[in-house]
Amino acid sequence: MHQHNKTATLAGRDKSIIWHPLTQEKTSSPSIAIIKGEGEYLYDEQNKKYLDLISSWWVNLHGHANPVIARAIYEQALKLEQVIFAGFTHDQAVQLCENLKVELPENLTRFFFSDNGSTSVEVALKIALQFWKNSGEKRRDIFISFDKGYHGDTVGAMSLGASSGFFDQYKKILFEVAHVPFPATWENDPDVERKEKASLNAVRNLLEKNLNRVAGFIAEPLVQGAGGMRMCRHKYLEQCVELFREYGVLIIFDEVMTGFYRTGKMFALDYIPTKPDILCLSKGLTGGFLPLSLTITSERVYNAFLSDDFSSALIHSHSYTANPLGCAAGIASLELLKSTSTLDKIAHIEQLHRNFICDLKLALREVIKAERVCGTIVAFNLFSEECNYSHVIAAKLKEIFMKEGLLIRPLGNTIYLMPPYCISEKVLKETYWKIIELISSVTASFA
Ligand SMILES: *Cc1c(COP(=O)(O)O)cnc(C)c1O
Repeated sequence: MHQHNKTATLAGRDKSIIWHPLTQEKTSSPSIAIIKGEGEYLYDEQNKKYLDLISSWWVNLHGHANPVIARAIYEQALKLEQVIFAGFTHDQAVQLCENLKVELPENLTRFFFSDNGSTSVEVALKIALQFWKNSGEKRRDIFISFDKGYHGDTVGAMSLGASSGFFDQYKKILFEVAHVPFPATWENDPDVERKEKASLNAVRNLLEKNLNRVAGFIAEPLVQGAGGMRMCRHKYLEQCVELFREYGVLIIFDEVMTGFYRTGKMFALDYIPTKPDILCLSKGLTGGFLPLSLTITSERVYNAFLSDDFSSALIHSHSYTANPLGCAAGIASLELLKSTSTLDKIAHIEQLHRNFICDLKLALREVIKAERVCGTIVAFNLFSEECNYSHVIAAKLKEIFMKEGLLIRPLGNTIYLMPPYCISEKVLKETYWKIIELISSVTASFA
């Protein structure tokens, strides 16, 4: 592998021809040109380094430019870069799914590929809807999701996430979805039991009112990502899922973010005994190298699509379905993930996060609210939701973090860290102190 042109930069090019995602191009500061990544760091044109504390939008697991994964992709590209996936298959796709199957509950047996988290959710919706059609229960066409859930930016996925109000501009093209309250909780939350009970009551009422009408329930298990790293207890999740099961509803887990040890276990579903019928995976699937996703179903769901009639088949395909390079990256990433050194690191990150929130609370008792940890994710709020300058402070902090070389993107007034697993204890501890120091100085200046 040669280095093409080591000094290539964006100097002299017009960066502004590019329209960036989720960005108000008029007011946002110019995008930072990254020329290199290594481990937990990204480097810009001036060789300034940024500590990637959000795993580059939650995709990266083992650090940037991991040489094991890079080599796997390179070697695969020399053999087979892409092939049509209808009527053809390839070893990388089968091997990746075989290796994943070992890590999954026994009921999840069939693997459908697409390209990103949003499409893995679209596929899950289409499968759930058609499952009932093919099974002769044509009235089951309602979907239920959690308040403030996020499932992606395509039309079906936006419909599921519409309760956030985030997609109101696009209402016209969204379909109706029923939403139930999510009992978001944190350390020492005195109100958690009441919230959980209220949520379960709302679920039961909704199911009673719509007997044999609900096709599927979709959830981000344990942690709602984009909704603000909102967490729930696994006991609650179990009760909730069992309730839906009681009414015959298909359970869809969107583990696009929570998958691959973000919550401390391989999948968030490993925390509860009741298993979903459909599982969505993406983001960490390739270790953060290439876009790829899977919608995985039970045998029962898969069987409903078998018939002599083509119209009961799943009508879904993407040009790059099961791209061999993505699959090769996935195989290599999974292998790295299962090594004992990675697993030890993941457990250690959780321990360090827990110590961090104790220190935070000690140093900034009046500022830090709703502190919470789930696996490698730590989150807390700045002041309470009602405090109208908490978002302003969070935005100010984001700027300051970046100046200091810390890539952290608050969600509203929530600050969270989701580092790649390769991050060292030393770097993490230094970061915690830096964060405490920066929050102290910014909040003091607002006081
Ligand atoms: C990011 C995310 C998605 C969407 O994935 P994309 O690859 O960005 O389309 C869906 N669900 C959850 C839970 C996510 O965090």
